[in-house]
Amino acid sequence: MSKYVDKVLKEVQAKNANEPEFIQAVDEVLTTLDPVLKANPVYEKNAILERMVEPERIVMFRVPWVDDKGIVRVNRGYRIQMNSAIGPYKGGLRFDPTVNLSVLKFLAFEQVFKNSLTTLPMGGGKGGSDFNPKQSPHTPGKRCSDAEVMRFCQSFMTELFRHIGPDTDVPAGDMNVGGREIGYLFGQYKRLANEWTGVLTGKGLSFGGSLIRPEATGYGNIYFAENMLAMRGETFEGKRCVISGSGNVASFAAEKLMQLGAKVLTLSDRSGAIYAPDGITAKMLKDIMVLKNVKRGELAEFAKKTKAVKFFAGKNSWQIVDKIDAAFPCARQNELNGADADYLLKHGCTLVGEGANMPSTPDAIAKFVAAKIMYSPGKASNAGGVATSGLEMSQNSERLSWTRDEVDAKLKGIMKSIHDNAWEAAAKYGHKGNYVMGANIAGFVKVADAMVAQGVC
Ligand code: NAP
Repeated sequence: MSKYVDKVLKEVQAKNANEPEFIQAVDEVLTTLDPVLKANPVYEKNAILERMVEPERIVMFRVPWVDDKGIVRVNRGYRIQMNSAIGPYKGGLRFDPTVNLSVLKFLAFEQVFKNSLTTLPMGGGKGGSDFNPKQSPHTPGKRCSDAEVMRFCQSFMTELFRHIGPDTDVPAGDMNVGGREIGYLFGQYKRLANEWTGVLTGKGLSFGGSLIRPEATGYGNIYFAENMLAMRGETFEGKRCVISGSGNVASFAAEKLMQLGAKVLTLSDRSGAIYAPDGITAKMLKDIMVLKNVKRGELAEFAKKTKAVKFFAGKNSWQIVDKIDAAFPCARQNELNGADADYLLKHGCTLVGEGANMPSTPDAIAKFVAAKIMYSPGKASNAGGVATSGLEMSQNSERLSWTRDEVDAKLKGIMKSIHDNAWEAAAKYGHKGNYVMGANIAGFVKVADAMVAQGVC
């Protein structure tokens, strides 16, 4: 590691000592940048790393709301505006009790590189709240009602609206923020700002949403993996795949894999993992999507009613299948550790495509890179979601809606560009096939050059 990177990392650790996820994300990126920093001393001279690790702005606010029993509840809301060098801040909102400054700063930092990789003009941001829509504050075991979620979203937007705008900051969904929440947030923004603009993405189709946006992150992850396979002359036909999660990213990754002839063996959620030895069928996947998105239930319930699947309570998808060709972590950060990586490698896995953000621990990443398997970091392979959000912004500005095929073709093209840029950047700096280095370097250079050109700001 160069002295420059070492110095910046030490400063980040000292200044953010209680933010382990943020430190992990910064460490993962900075430790791969030595070759490009050495070749371009202008970055150190302009303190580019020091500026990139400091958010341009953080907004933290109180979110008071009234539950169905008439009791006043208070949550904490956040928006991290990390970097606007190449475009307006762009990144999702997450509602989950695990949300804190460290988690959102890690996600915002990742987002800067991811958005740069998409080839579209978008800066990086992230936000959310510790609000838990999956647990009612007054009835244990019950979810918040639609009315409670709406009142929370309206209160959240009542503060957030003054910090965002179609040319300033354009939030989207993330964990527990889907079509329902984006609808409520958009309705409240429109009311407060008295304008109809594409200030949020992931909107409903009848009010400016883009076709393929719901599918985009999952599909994009699989398109990226197809590009990795193509470099080795392989396809997905007959490949045995394990997936974690059963939310937005996981379910559409599963759908695309099935369309490409792969066998999807597992999905998971907080209740545990399901394993279908003969493969999850299209009908099962459809039922799971209804269970998760409409009934808002758990896989444990699905397993009880479905003979063709085995259920592993409290487990993730990594260590329950004997023969595995490819793994797709699509649930949450740090969900795949060194022992899981050992198991996957031992059982035949030659491809890991991250759909979630930072799902593999540093230990697991080191094992995948050392084994020289096809391993794509989330910031490259899950960029299809934000890329299609960028396409939604373009359609809103043009007052036009593109067809499903048009958007899908653009998404495929963008995923190929991200793949090729990461591949070429890694090869240029002597690490052919290392997508971690390639993605970090390609994402970094575009933002760093823009920051140098814009002076000290
Ligand atoms: P989602 O629809 O809320 O799904 C999240 C999934 O992860 C659910 O199956 C959830 O299970 C599971 N999960 C969450 N916390 C868990 C825990 N502690 N233990 C076990 N399972 C857990 O969210 P998503 O949009 O698919 O996002 C998944 C990941 O992809 C996140 O890392 C997100 O940042 C990343 N990502 C999303 C997008 C996007 O467009 N949505 C874009 C880029 C990256 P339950 O259903 O039981 O809660």
